[in-house]
Amino acid sequence: MSFTIAIIGRPNVGKSTLFNRLVGQKLALVDDAPGVTRDRREGEARLGDLRFTIIDTAGLDEGAKGSLTARMQEQTETAIGLADALMFVIDGRAGLTPSDRSFADHARRANKPVVLLANKSEGKHGELGAMESYALGLGEPIMISAEHGEGMGDLYDALRDLM
Ligand code: GDP
Ligand code: MG
Repeated sequence: MSFTIAIIGRPNVGKSTLFNRLVGQKLALVDDAPGVTRDRREGEARLGDLRFTIIDTAGLDEGAKGSLTARMQEQTETAIGLADALMFVIDGRAGLTPSDRSFADHARRANKPVVLLANKSEGKHGELGAMESYALGLGEPIMISAEHGEGMGDLYDALRDLM
């Protein structure tokens, strides 16, 4: 199996959009509606001359049962277990939420290399979230826009360093 990277983060931060951009096909469901059950997806990603396997984690909503459903936790843990490294995604426009902190705990406990991504940062709109995300203890955030393809050069540099 090639180098494997799991995309982790709370629902709606743009994980599947990033997955689709890196895989170059719409294999993952992007949905505006929270609470949609989606399966874990794997694809072969390319970024410049880098090739790796990428795992998208589903966007189960937090729902009424508490801060994090058991299924989402389980899926995140499974993906983390399969991965050599993680991309942890936050919404740079929304800033940090308690849910981000909860997912970040999983990422930190994994003891695997993490690239912290402040998505939705097109036109510098993600600066607030990027600044706040330093507090997650996952290193320096990279501002990207999965939807518009911004920040891919910085993402390339970060991934090349850890692969
Ligand atoms: P996921 O639940 O983390 O997989 O998030 P999705 O990929 O399904 O995206 C959730 C919503 O955020 C969708 O409406 C996307 O179109 C939107 N989105 C994703 N990436 C970006 C981005 O870079 N900028 C903006 N403005 N919106 C984005
Ligand atoms: Mg998704």
